[in-house]
Amino acid sequence: MAFSFSKLIIFGPQGAGKGTQTEFLTKRLGVPAVSSGHLLRLEMGQDTKLGHFLKTQMSTGELISDEIINLLIKNYLLGPECVRGFLLDGFPRTVDQAKFLATFAAVDCILKINISDAEAVWRLSGRRTCPSCGMVYHQESKPPQKAGSCDRCRVELIKRSDDTPEAIQKRLKIYYTETVLAVVYYQTQSIPILEINGEQTIEAVRQEIFEKLGL
Ligand code: AMP
Repeated sequence: MAFSFSKLIIFGPQGAGKGTQTEFLTKRLGVPAVSSGHLLRLEMGQDTKLGHFLKTQMSTGELISDEIINLLIKNYLLGPECVRGFLLDGFPRTVDQAKFLATFAAVDCILKINISDAEAVWRLSGRRTCPSCGMVYHQESKPPQKAGSCDRCRVELIKRSDDTPEAIQKRLKIYYTETVLAVVYYQTQSIPILEINGEQTIEAVRQEIFEKLGL
């Protein structure tokens, strides 16, 4: 059966591979990926009051206030890039954010990638990110062609400041106590939720997602 979803959200604990799978999906679906974390990190790189605030706040693993993130996301989703739809990664993270999103966009499909905590910690500890395009690598399972450098931008990869053991534990806790409730919210709205086994090779996860989406 073929589906034609255009407004999707990808859920999963940190390290589940959302960013990697989003890369494959956006090409196939023809809609842009919108990562709330990436949008915030772009703001964080600015020499502004907000940029400095985000730098301190995000390194702890705590959530950023709805006031800030809701505005950023709304502006982006209502902008010209998203006229054909979007694939959201990292937003919503709470039921309140999901309800806010519903005031201006009708989500039509949820993908939920599942992995264990042990796997998440292993993956995040070896994760390296491109500060320019947001592309995500792993030192062992998805290394860049040239060590330490982004395949696309050629800039030096960084270890995120919130990929420390303390911040990782905090982020996982928030996922299981708050973000899964947003998934439950979509269940109550009868939005299709596709559960994906994230503890497979990147290619096998990609295949499972494509099959379940009818792509
Ligand atoms: P991520 O790249 O999705 O792991 O997000 C990194 C960090 O950005 C999180 O730990 C939060 O501090 C912040 N963040 C990202 N998305 C949200 C959101 N929807 N609500 C609040 N904070 C967020």
